Amino acid sequence: MKAIRLTKVGKPLEMQEIPLPSLGEKDVLVEVKAAGICHSDVHYRAGNSPVGPLPQTLGHEIAGIVKKAGSRVKHLQVGSRVCLHYQLSCGDCSYCRRGMEQFCSTGMMLGKYCDGGFAEYIAVPARNALVLPEEIPFAQGAIMMCSSATSFHALQKARLKPSERVAVFGAGGLGMSAIQLARTLGAFEVYAVDINEEKLQLAGKYGAIPINSSRSDPVAQIYHRTDARGVDVAVELIGLPETMSQAVRSLATFGRAVLVGITDKPFPVNSYFELLGKEAEIIGCADHLFCELAPLIELVRRGRLDLSQVVTGMIPLEAGVVNKAMDAMEKFGSGIRTVISL
Ligand SMILES: [Zn+2]
Ligand SMILES: [Zn+2]
Repeated sequence: MKAIRLTKVGKPLEMQEIPLPSLGEKDVLVEVKAAGICHSDVHYRAGNSPVGPLPQTLGHEIAGIVKKAGSRVKHLQVGSRVCLHYQLSCGDCSYCRRGMEQFCSTGMMLGKYCDGGFAEYIAVPARNALVLPEEIPFAQGAIMMCSSATSFHALQKARLKPSERVAVFGAGGLGMSAIQLARTLGAFEVYAVDINEEKLQLAGKYGAIPINSSRSDPVAQIYHRTDARGVDVAVELIGLPETMSQAVRSLATFGRAVLVGITDKPFPVNSYFELLGKEAEIIGCADHLFCELAPLIELVRRGRLDLSQVVTGMIPLEAGVVNKAMDAMEKFGSGIRTVISL
């Protein structure tokens, strides 16, 4: 089968012809119909986050059709439409048993530590394959499993309550989900902070109040619009020290800033004015939980989370085109989410 693989960190991905993956009795073989390209993939290619062993097929946002099911697979049949949970966890270690399976001691991530979805087929444990309802197109099913799931988890970590005010820093793939989910979970006002006017317009369509941070200080704009109160929840999805600091500084009393964007650079916090004095919190957020996926899929099926405008590009499974899409993401291009469609 064809697979687009990272053979060397810092080099473009390459198309390779590799054998079909073998199948255990509790696994399913999935014919990939859609695989989203994520900012994490760009980081893996560039060598900013660990990945391997190489060569490795990238891609962790995957939806497709079950082609073969192991003898002990019960809940799926050949022909089932599925989307894949990218965290492979053991289910038995102390983390898994306490519902923290994203920290599983033998956990693996598809497209990072084992072969992912930039390929014609992928084999996964059947428990990682969730039924994708007919109403949800494959491309949306794919991106839902990363960007939407992470945004959903971030809002759970934020303990968002109805009637609260939320600021979402970064109106990209994650941001569009975070905005809609915050509103669905009862936020009265959602501010979208970005420098890209096109993204802010789409954020506005999804019900956010756009704040262009290239024009003036977004923290001042948030304070101005909230009668100097600030927001109860700030979600940082960009991964820049500057926007992390802005997220913290935009908090109201008892506010919670959830940091999702990845950077290895520190950012300054004035602990007295920005945290202690407000009893504000800074919360880290990594991945999402398996138990969050079923309600998320249902929200998309019911149209409470609309991803139809989020997939802005569909490309074929070709190394050159995929590398080009990743180059554009590296420069924070205007497209929101590109999906490899098969
Ligand atoms: Zn992703
Ligand atoms: Zn485990």
